[in-house]
Amino acid sequence: MSVAPAAVEPDRADVLARAEAAYLGLALGDALGATVEFMTPREIAHHFAHQGGVHREIIGGGWLKLKPGQVTDDTTMSLALGEAILSNGGRVEAPACARAFDAWMRAKPVDIGNTVRRNLLAFRRTGEPQAPASEHDAGNGAAMRVLPVALATFGWPEDAVRDATRAQAHVTHNNAMSDAACEFLVLAVQDFLRGDSLQQVVQRRIHPLVSDVPAFGFGDRPRRENPSGWVVETMQAVLQAVIEDHGFENCLVDVVNRGGDADTTGAITGMLAGAMYGLDAIPSRWLSQLDSNVHKRCESQARQLLAATS
Ligand code: MN
Ligand code: MN
Repeated sequence: MSVAPAAVEPDRADVLARAEAAYLGLALGDALGATVEFMTPREIAHHFAHQGGVHREIIGGGWLKLKPGQVTDDTTMSLALGEAILSNGGRVEAPACARAFDAWMRAKPVDIGNTVRRNLLAFRRTGEPQAPASEHDAGNGAAMRVLPVALATFGWPEDAVRDATRAQAHVTHNNAMSDAACEFLVLAVQDFLRGDSLQQVVQRRIHPLVSDVPAFGFGDRPRRENPSGWVVETMQAVLQAVIEDHGFENCLVDVVNRGGDADTTGAITGMLAGAMYGLDAIPSRWLSQLDSNVHKRCESQARQLLAATS
């Protein structure tokens, strides 16, 4: 007589710890990368020659002249989105997202992407919460802030997850390349939250992504350096760093030392690596540098957004 295997339910405490790690990873990658945003790898190596030519500490500075541990739009837009989802009963709907992003813009963020600004100004004029489809709006500004959607829709059917992902993305970026990246990131984070291995995520998510959108291909390409804000270059750098499987810290150090849009590649890589490697993998010296208010908000949103799904 055979016994049917019990359905494998992910352990709730483990999912929560990975969710917190993903949110903290996003903020840490943003804070680490912002120091070298828009620098080239050669400039970074020169600037950090006193420590082996590698940038690996959370020290602030950069073109935005940040305090150590201060974050930028990647994290603060994510937090604004998370608040909007929570005060909208756990639903991800364009009008609530658009109002939250507009309020975020009014509060004078330290940085803001051009596509985000243009389409939020259009929302102010027209009240239409969805940007018009545009083949030019293929920046990484919707992808950098997807994490709250991954948490709020954890356990939902895949089609519903994809719909929610596009609802938040299209407020500012209504573009097929951006959608492909956003949907991939949300589903990959959810796989890691369930405890899936990198190899499983490569098979289930990364291979299909690259076969659907060959531009995201990274394996046969030379090392992607100076990734721009174009979501294609962003994803090439992120995937090359993640696929190496060299641990949370090394993964983030790898991606930000490529320079370019380093706060955003750092944020996206940090979110994936946090979910994959978990809380214990995050260096305590980085966590102790992170802005304490941001630290608290990331932890509490991770908990509340996941709770909203059950
Ligand atoms: Mn930024
Ligand atoms: Mn950026």
